[in-house]
Amino acid sequence: MLVSAKDMLNKAREGKYAVGQFNINNLEWTKAILLTAEENKSPVILGVSEGAGKYMGGYKTIVGMVNGMLEELNITVPVALHLDHGSYEGALKCIEAGFSSVMFDGSHYPIEENIAKTTELVKITSDKGLSLEAEVGSIGGEEDGVVGAGEIADANECQKIADLGVTMLAAGIGNIHGQYPENWKGLAFDALEKINAATGTTPLVLHGGTGIPEEMIKKAISLGVAKINVNTECQLAFAAATRKYIEEGKDLQGKGFDPRKVLAPGFEAIKATVKEKMELFGSVGQA
Ligand SMILES: [Zn+2]
Repeated sequence: MLVSAKDMLNKAREGKYAVGQFNINNLEWTKAILLTAEENKSPVILGVSEGAGKYMGGYKTIVGMVNGMLEELNITVPVALHLDHGSYEGALKCIEAGFSSVMFDGSHYPIEENIAKTTELVKITSDKGLSLEAEVGSIGGEEDGVVGAGEIADANECQKIADLGVTMLAAGIGNIHGQYPENWKGLAFDALEKINAATGTTPLVLHGGTGIPEEMIKKAISLGVAKINVNTECQLAFAAATRKYIEEGKDLQGKGFDPRKVLAPGFEAIKATVKEKMELFGSVGQA
């Protein structure tokens, strides 16, 4: 059964580790992440962007697929199904479809509007026992056509949003979606310290987990980050493994064209990436 991300993240924050959010794109992605979480006894969050939701045939399709896998693959670790960077309307749709967690990304609104909309969603999600992620200060880079400048979130604004009772808070601290440029300045730890001090025990979320050096990940966890989003890294691993299979001509040998064979190396590559991240984040054995 899907669970809210609340307990797993509060536990992670207290235990000084982070739970990975791995975004899904299809059946292979979902199965690879769930099996890896189970094998490593790690809690896990499956992330779905609005674009990926559309791609997979709609939110209800995803809920059906994930619930089916939890039962038939005997997944016993805590799993949350979470809308990533949702609009207000998207969050409502996912709640109705059976997601156990949603993010409302109001970071592009003036703070008053972000507060007003987040307040509404706090009411709706807490009534239903679901978790809610809010965002202050946009994350850099491009995601589903939304380009953020990579702001540093204001600690006072973070406090205002945290005080509304959100489950977890994403705050921009110089992090970027996608691959980091050569001249990236790194995470703004001075800002993270202030945000952590201002938001009490609210678990903080680090978006754009692909390519952040290990020491920075560990330091971020020590400063209240309890959820780290990984998306691009699984995509790169999947693409590289699939490319290798084709370039080696394996699809041309015997029944190598069978989609289950074509997709197998990419599936294994996602599993390896997820395991590596769970080890780095310290969530292995925490379920
Ligand atoms: Zn993000």
